[in-house]
Amino acid sequence: AVLVRGVTKRFGDTEVLAGIDLKVPTGATTCLIGPSGSGKSTLLRCIAFLEEATTGTIEIHGDPLGFAEAPDGGRTRLSPQSIRAVRSRIGMVFQQFNLWPHMTALGNVCEALVTVRRMRRSEAEEHGMAQLSRVGLANRAKHYPSELSGGQQQRVAIARALALDPEVMLFDEPTASLDPELTGEVLNVMRDLAGSGMTLLVVTHEIGFAATVGQRIAFLDHGRLLLDGTPREVFGEPRHPRLAQFLETYL
Ligand code: ATP
Ligand code: MG
Repeated sequence: AVLVRGVTKRFGDTEVLAGIDLKVPTGATTCLIGPSGSGKSTLLRCIAFLEEATTGTIEIHGDPLGFAEAPDGGRTRLSPQSIRAVRSRIGMVFQQFNLWPHMTALGNVCEALVTVRRMRRSEAEEHGMAQLSRVGLANRAKHYPSELSGGQQQRVAIARALALDPEVMLFDEPTASLDPELTGEVLNVMRDLAGSGMTLLVVTHEIGFAATVGQRIAFLDHGRLLLDGTPREVFGEPRHPRLAQFLETYL
């Protein structure tokens, strides 16, 4: 599991996360929902250590990421090597696909395998092709991003993250910048990943996806985790008034 304990995040005087405790269970899909500005991206970025939590700790399958709990209740910073090692076990997909424009789909998927993981090019390409197949894009391997639809580009971004064999995949509104007719193909890929027993944490405004694919739903509001439970517990009646209000604006 990914364990988030007492995580706060301040930017200057602004408290964006006000003490988050969250367990993201292994082999299941957790969907994180909440209004704009509630802190969803910040929480994801803290979990991926792209952002340092102001206080609190994060554990990936038992290993602390960035900081370890100290006996006095505080925390101590871990070594850069430890941070790199634990962080490399997390894959992340963003709203913007951030593909290299001068590289083919396969090139994008293989790049980190060669430069970071030191794989031989031929081996990386074989592994990369397998990942492109996984997202249904084996026949687009030689295409450049400009020759792909937004949905296909996002699927390449997912294949690129999968190629590094992460234990946990974080998604931050992966369909938010796609035309409505292209969101389905990306959600289908994610549904397949969820079905394959990967550990997923997905920030999404696709409430239908959350309700059907999410095994856990976490609802963030003003930097606080107001709800954390099964879809039935969270979406069923009686509904938390803040959730009801949020759903009204998105359904
Ligand atoms: P959205 O649904 O619009 O993506 P969100 O829930 O992901 O919203 P965050 O992006 O986490 O929200 O932002 C939460 C709050 O933190 C916002 O008020 C935002 O302005 C603030 N914030 C985020 N990053 C920074 C930063 N680097 N410096 C200052 N404030 C920030
Ligand atoms: Mg966000």
